[in-house]
Amino acid sequence: MSYLVTSKLSKKYTRRGKEFSAVDNVDFSIDHGEFVMIVGESGSGKTTFLNLITGISNPTSGSVLIEDEPVNEFDDDKLSRVRREKIKYIPQGDSLLSALTVRENILLPYELNGEDQIDEQMLEKTALDLGIGDLLDEYPSELSGGEMRRVAIARALINKPALIIADEPTGSLDEQNTRKVMDIFTKVHEDGTALIVVTHQKETLSYASKVYVMKEGKLTEE
Ligand code: ADP
Ligand code: MG
Repeated sequence: MSYLVTSKLSKKYTRRGKEFSAVDNVDFSIDHGEFVMIVGESGSGKTTFLNLITGISNPTSGSVLIEDEPVNEFDDDKLSRVRREKIKYIPQGDSLLSALTVRENILLPYELNGEDQIDEQMLEKTALDLGIGDLLDEYPSELSGGEMRRVAIARALINKPALIIADEPTGSLDEQNTRKVMDIFTKVHEDGTALIVVTHQKETLSYASKVYVMKEGKLTEE
């Protein structure tokens, strides 16, 4: 059964008086435990699509169903619960809080979740696997861009979400760290988590079981 389904999903923007579809009539679905990647040129609508399926922005038309329920009917409580417990979004760019250490940044969603039984061993192991094991007590301002990306990835990983959505997670990483991240995605996928990963790097596509191409707002399977 599908975990997330979109039907005729569209998002229109207006630029200099002209309307265009950043996401254009997209029918997409991902099953429980499936691993898909989305490629496409810059500006083709990938981030807009991810923002729609995570309920961060509202579609102009069409629908998103998560476990058969329409996301646009979720109230704020339900939406934040889904984000904390089920769907982890690793956004493009920097998403860490500068006043918190790496460890605190990783733990923040779990504390908001009211979980006081944090699996410290799991945290340390995930950090080690991602090559940030010795950075847990540093502040984001002391980290490189690539290290910050990996902290954001660690934060998404440690409570075994049903679905991880990542927007160019390896964008600023070298080959070795790209492989580390992809290996860890493979591992969580084997543990049953579904993944939607937007990427620019052709060499990472082989990790996914399906590849989609986004072009001018239209999504097609490759
Ligand atoms: P990608 O992630 O594939 O690089 P985006 O989804 O960020 O592409 O953007 C798709 C198109 O929509 C681009 O032309 C972008 O400039 C435009 N766009 C994105 N967000 C907005 C917005 N809030 N208002 C108007 N145009 C936007
Ligand atoms: Mg983008």
